[in-house]
Amino acid sequence: MKFNLLHPADQIVQIMNRIYDSGLTTTSGGNLSIKDDNGDIWITPGGIDKGSLTRADICHVFPDGKIVGPHKPSVELPFHSSVYEKRPDIRAILHAHPPKLVAFSVVRKLPELNIVSNSRRTCGSLTIAPYAVPGSEKLGDNISAEFAKGFNIVVLENHGVVIGGENLFECFMRFETLESTARLQINANKVGKIKTFADSELNLSVTRDHLIMDDFVPNKHTPEECAVRRDMITLIKRSYRCGLFGSTRGTFSARLTDGSFLITSYGVDRAYMTEDDLVLIKNGMKEAGKVPSRSVMLHKRIYEKHPEIRSVIGAEPPHAMAFAVTDTEFDPRTIPESYIQLRYVQRVNFSSVYVDIEKVADMFSERTPVLICENNQILVSGESLLNAFDRLEVCEATAKSIISACDIGEMVHISEDEVKEIDKAFNLK
Ligand SMILES: [Zn+2]
Repeated sequence: MKFNLLHPADQIVQIMNRIYDSGLTTTSGGNLSIKDDNGDIWITPGGIDKGSLTRADICHVFPDGKIVGPHKPSVELPFHSSVYEKRPDIRAILHAHPPKLVAFSVVRKLPELNIVSNSRRTCGSLTIAPYAVPGSEKLGDNISAEFAKGFNIVVLENHGVVIGGENLFECFMRFETLESTARLQINANKVGKIKTFADSELNLSVTRDHLIMDDFVPNKHTPEECAVRRDMITLIKRSYRCGLFGSTRGTFSARLTDGSFLITSYGVDRAYMTEDDLVLIKNGMKEAGKVPSRSVMLHKRIYEKHPEIRSVIGAEPPHAMAFAVTDTEFDPRTIPESYIQLRYVQRVNFSSVYVDIEKVADMFSERTPVLICENNQILVSGESLLNAFDRLEVCEATAKSIISACDIGEMVHISEDEVKEIDKAFNLK
């Protein structure tokens, strides 16, 4: 589904539903708008249940001020108009009160973006605007003054956030990423001291390796390939629903018996991904007309070096990532299932996934099926699609328990002798 082919009112309804369903706004809070090519503004109404909006509820505001629709537009229409006036490049605005970011806004701090490379790349930079009464001219002035300086993300003191973009999906990606970065920072603060990366290191992550792969046109799609495409899409959508993937973050691949593999495409919305959005990689070439995820070369090397690995996932789950942005060791000896699935998790430094994929690929083994890539992602391997997905879920659930344990007492790990007992019972090497 191409987002830009949806009518502005449908775009607003779709994004508002996603925001509401992920618990990132309340029934009465938040407003979205789009400025179309005619200069008209489409905006959510005020005082209407955000959990059951339809396209007929969206207000159509003409440049001369005429308003068409069954409801009054949001009381925040003046700040939307003022931002559009100051920044002609901005064509969509998202305003909401997501809980973790609001936590930052009430202590009047900004979340640190240089803790995860994707967060920094997606969000760019951000600023904070002084407090003013909702709906007031003063609030509008405070917000538009920050947008006029070139910022696309403005946190509002004791209120929420306003995000601008070229289209509403771009705003949503920034919004979702910013809230998950805020959540990650809050989680990570409980386990250790947060590490950031320098802007110069970020340049390493801007790799275009995948773009130089040659194209090929598949002449047939085997039943095995079709089944793997179907199962991957089921698990990718589930990963998005469970918060393990973001709308355009999270890489999933699976190897086929002939040595080729399927991988997610770059920049395609994981919530609406279809079988056709997966890219077949065969003999070092990519399926024509598609762009694979940026880590395609790393996945390729992992498959080449490890015949037993049949699926690889790279993700940024918000609790497991707390260990990727601090130096704190992630020790899965919490419950037997965590140890059996995750074993001995190893770490690789920030730059390795870009400059030393040989080393990263070599680190996988039966004893180390999971790698923590500092300030970057969690890499999980599996003997099957479901095994890799299960490991990712276990990894996040284990991290969640460890972080919760920080609040209530000293954690007691399964002892060395107990580990030996598990190794024996489950035939682990
Ligand atoms: Zn508000």
